[in-house]
Amino acid sequence: MAFDHRALIEEIQEQYREADGHRPWIVGFSGGKDSTLLLQLVWLAVKELPIRDRQIYVVCNNTLVENPKVIDYVDGVLNKIKEEAHKQSMPVIVKQTTPALEDTFWVNLIGKGYPSPNNIFRWCTERLKINPTTKFILEKISDSGEVIILLGTRSDESANRAKNLKKREVKGSRLRKHILPNAYVYAAIKDVKTDDLWQYLAQVPSPWNASNKELITLYKNANSGDCPLVIDKTTPSCGNSRFGCWVCTVVKRDKSMEALVENGEDWMEPLMELRDVLATSRDDESVRETRGRDGVEREGRLGPYKPEFRAQFLKLLLEAQREIQIDQPEINLINYQELVAIQVLWHRDNIFNYNVAEVYSRVFGTTIDLKGTNDRVIKEKEMLKDACGDDEDFQLINELLALQKSKTILMNNRGLQNDLENHLGRFVQNKKTDLL
Ligand code: SF4
Repeated sequence: MAFDHRALIEEIQEQYREADGHRPWIVGFSGGKDSTLLLQLVWLAVKELPIRDRQIYVVCNNTLVENPKVIDYVDGVLNKIKEEAHKQSMPVIVKQTTPALEDTFWVNLIGKGYPSPNNIFRWCTERLKINPTTKFILEKISDSGEVIILLGTRSDESANRAKNLKKREVKGSRLRKHILPNAYVYAAIKDVKTDDLWQYLAQVPSPWNASNKELITLYKNANSGDCPLVIDKTTPSCGNSRFGCWVCTVVKRDKSMEALVENGEDWMEPLMELRDVLATSRDDESVRETRGRDGVEREGRLGPYKPEFRAQFLKLLLEAQREIQIDQPEINLINYQELVAIQVLWHRDNIFNYNVAEVYSRVFGTTIDLKGTNDRVIKEKEMLKDACGDDEDFQLINELLALQKSKTILMNNRGLQNDLENHLGRFVQNKKTDLL
């Protein structure tokens, strides 16, 4: 074998036995080649130890818009890890994280009208990838005081990675500081070269009984690179030609999805078409508002998607789901909670011409119960109108409330103060103009 895996296993054992056993290990696992090698070496190292008293969390994030082929494979692997950890008495707990409802791709794009992401407005990585994992890491820091995060980052992958790995090194230690307080990073496989990695995975069977061959085939068919677990903005992710979100419009072409379709996964074609719609829509002025969600018009910047585009895209998405489910009934492109959240957001944005339940029933021919989301918002508005009496007061308070709610329902009060001040400022300005 081209790299000294035995020396690496011994080094991992040494790190595991350090007198800081209260600090759990959190292994970032994406199911890709790097994190598979990392977990495999950690598993083999710890398995040989008579005392395994340090907890190991295997954390894997699902953006809910993962390539369905990849997520299917990763879910299968995670199940095997859980089963084998139990059978082999390994101190391994698998944790799958997902974005908070208010952060999911569809809630932001269809619900709030955020344009599909690009390099200038890349609103997705933090919401879909960084926040869910950070939340889990913070929970563990709060439970244990400190944590050690194991990442499959390798210098070989890019010059940038090599630079990032050098930063924050703790002198005389294999650990480096993470940007989160009380968190350290151990990049155990940083010096393993890509060719050696593949050779190792091809030769050494998976200790949790998954098939490394399947992983190799998946990479081959998708002609793809890796998308590691993204835990902060310095972790490389979402670059070109790798497994990422199937909706990704940050990359020009989703080469991995194209390659999968070429290799026989024809059922993915509707996903490619949807992605193309997303890619072209972001620069199409006819489907974008001229003002931002806060009502402010900014030079050279378009606002959110118009209501008709949001409704039309939801219809396309549900139609794609219906088509795909003929052959792949287990694949869901959007979930029920997201549909409810979108309906609530449409009403918060005063969109009453379109209704999620109606779009749904037009596509599937069945009704969906969105648990009175419409009634609740309508009732709130009626109560507010009664209380205000004056139409103008009602409108202003309603708009301020909408602003406040769009921030609180999405658990994000960032900028609320500014938005409220801007809104009030504009109201006063309009008043003054009226009086002139
Ligand atoms: S893969 Fe693309 S869509 Fe997904 S988080 Fe990264 S940049 Fe955003």
